[in-house]
Amino acid sequence: MKVIEAINTCKSPYVTFEILPPLKGKSIESLYGILDPLMEFKPPFINVTYHSSEYTYKERPNGFLEKVSIRKRPGTVGICASIMYRYKVDAVAHLICGGFTKNETEDALIDLHYLGVKNILILRGDPPKNERDFKPEVNGHSHSIGLLKQIVNINKGTYVEDDIKDGFNTDFCIGVAGYPEKHFEAPNISADIKYLKDKVDAGADYIVTQMFFDNKKYFDFVALCRSKGINVPIIPGIKPITTKKQVSQIPSTFHVDIPEDLYNAIENCKNDEQAAKVGTEWTVNQGKELLKAGAPCLHFFTMSNPKPIVEIVRALF
Ligand SMILES: Cc1cc2nc3c(=O)[nH]c(=O)nc-3n(C[C@H](O)[C@H](O)[C@H](O)COP(=O)(O)OP(=O)(O)OC[C@H]3O[C@@H](n4cnc5c(N)ncnc54)[C@H](O)[C@@H]3O)c2cc1C
Repeated sequence: MKVIEAINTCKSPYVTFEILPPLKGKSIESLYGILDPLMEFKPPFINVTYHSSEYTYKERPNGFLEKVSIRKRPGTVGICASIMYRYKVDAVAHLICGGFTKNETEDALIDLHYLGVKNILILRGDPPKNERDFKPEVNGHSHSIGLLKQIVNINKGTYVEDDIKDGFNTDFCIGVAGYPEKHFEAPNISADIKYLKDKVDAGADYIVTQMFFDNKKYFDFVALCRSKGINVPIIPGIKPITTKKQVSQIPSTFHVDIPEDLYNAIENCKNDEQAAKVGTEWTVNQGKELLKAGAPCLHFFTMSNPKPIVEIVRALF
């Protein structure tokens, strides 16, 4: 099923889980260990993230340092197929601009189509660690709207390789990211929303938000989007805090605020176990309010840690 069909036809709200491919060298069993407990909630979709390569410096026998590119979490396309095969659940493949030429993206789209994956969440990707700016590949996409247009084109049978005549039409449902607290590079929220509207006008079917810890940010964002003519579903993305360290890590990594009450409560915790309890309760309350306000679906960033997510979803449904 397509995400947009599920939203339009669901009689009651549902949950989706976003998971990360295992680190290179780990078996897929580690992923099943994360997903098995989450299947209790019959999610119609599992999102699988995509990860660009990172650069590292390796010392060579002559003493020189060599810059080496490593993709630490490969396997998104294959994992989508295994999830669909093992759990009979649709997968949403994340596709990123970073590290891909348009032709490589086209090949990934063909693989996804052959495997029966119908849903794609498109993202630009972040700059590699230790680099300030995002740099597209030569013949790649500099913003996610370019990737979106490529998928809209292949859905119409228009391929990047222009010697393909009468190409087969794919039928992907396309999601894009939205940022209730603004994307960190955008000069202001209006500019960010203008680019988001461009993506919706170009063919995005729905939006999934970056995590937020204050529901007001989501409600204001949805209202602003609607006032600018963005009318597609906006799925809230949420994540519980599970360690004390995360109150400083999350703002610097994801550019989102931790509300004062939550911050103070976590700071007062003696250990991570207490912090996880506070974080879990906070997310349960967020979820209750979002569902009451009519959210069609809750998208959980699991960060490969199913335990708190199981507790939260049991409390919500
Ligand atoms: C739900 C969710 C899932 C994610 N999953 C992944 C993942 O699997 N893998 C991964 O690497 N990252 C993932 N990310 C992170 C994402 O890649 C980063 O947030 C990235 O920095 C921006 O991606 P985007 O698609 O929003 O970019 P874009 O839409 O390209 O926007 C990036 C910035 O450029 C601006 N902009 C947009 N279009 C234009 C334009 N035409 N001209 C000038 N400026 C423009 C925007 O305002 C914004 O500031 C995810 C984020 C979310 C919210």
